[in-house]
Amino acid sequence: MNQRQVKRNIFRNIAILFFLLLSTSSVASEKIDVKNIRYWSSSDYTRIVIDLSGHVEFSKNLLSDPDRIYFDLKNTRLSKDIKTVFPVGDGMLKAVRAGQFDPDTVRIVFDLEMIKDFNTFFLDSPARLVVDVQGTKSIKKPEVVLTKRKIVIDAGHGGHDPGAVGPSGIHEKDVVLDIALKLKEILVKDPLNEVFLTRETDVFISLEERTAIANNKNADLFVSIHANASPSRRAHGIETYLLNWTNDEEAMTVAARENAISLKKMKEMHKQMDLLETIKNDLMRENKRDESIRLAHYIQKSLISTLNRERNNRKRIDLGVKQALFYVLFGAKMPSVLVEVSFISNPGDEKLLSNETYRMQLAKAISNGLNIYIMSTSVTKVTAL
Ligand SMILES: [Zn+2]
Repeated sequence: MNQRQVKRNIFRNIAILFFLLLSTSSVASEKIDVKNIRYWSSSDYTRIVIDLSGHVEFSKNLLSDPDRIYFDLKNTRLSKDIKTVFPVGDGMLKAVRAGQFDPDTVRIVFDLEMIKDFNTFFLDSPARLVVDVQGTKSIKKPEVVLTKRKIVIDAGHGGHDPGAVGPSGIHEKDVVLDIALKLKEILVKDPLNEVFLTRETDVFISLEERTAIANNKNADLFVSIHANASPSRRAHGIETYLLNWTNDEEAMTVAARENAISLKKMKEMHKQMDLLETIKNDLMRENKRDESIRLAHYIQKSLISTLNRERNNRKRIDLGVKQALFYVLFGAKMPSVLVEVSFISNPGDEKLLSNETYRMQLAKAISNGLNIYIMSTSVTKVTAL
């Protein structure tokens, strides 16, 4: 592996560490539990998530012969019943190991094979440290080529997380799953589309796993589908989001709800990011910002124009393309957006959302938006048939 590159990364990641230190609020005497380690791996991208009982301070270090990176999590203890050795063997990481290094420190070791890059960030409620590792695998030039695109559709929430609940009891998780399934059905009619859903049934999937699925599939596009909610039952309309810093309180409120964190936490996060330009850039550098903006505009435009052509619908208010810090978009390596299809908290919209025809109209409109984006994108990924 190229040690200089990794060292450069470490320096860059020190900025993130600074961010983590700022957001540290744990009481020093109380030990933070390292509760679980999870990972999703493919040949050129792996996401590792370390579940914690609270914020931690940590340091990281690079060692050679054999090459490894380790993270020392301060003031932590390793939960007794967790798995501590993970043989990964994906060409980038040999293994991930965890151990109680000393009474106050849990050490997480990444045994390296060959990596290009890695990036670390922290998510809250519940607290978890996310490490994204990028491989060096180059794309082989195929002999027979066809332009294909992989689209990952993410139906929000699921399982024990119902998402927003409408006044008559309709769950966001059910509405958005049905829209996602319909959208897939429409998109797969084009043989050049390869479509994956993060969930096809009523199951719970963490926000970070959804992004990991899209990155592991090496997706070209990622669309997360949600229904909006507001304390005001009169609020209605459609809006499409991309990942970015914002100072718009309403956008922050939406992101806080979708991230399942408090608005206060959300505001703190924005404040910290605003102070540290490097963090802002670092967390979002992979996100293909310009492409995400284009994708968001095409989908938003298509939703408004398509739905307002339908006679039976009430007029759809165009709330526009907005940005906020959605966990589900953190670390996504492709153009990625989150659509709030309507307000489930609005009795009129809830009624529409409970109607299959309306859900199909929404799916068609999103599909149209995606198609316009794809057609207008000159650089299409080339994949072997
Ligand atoms: Zn949602």
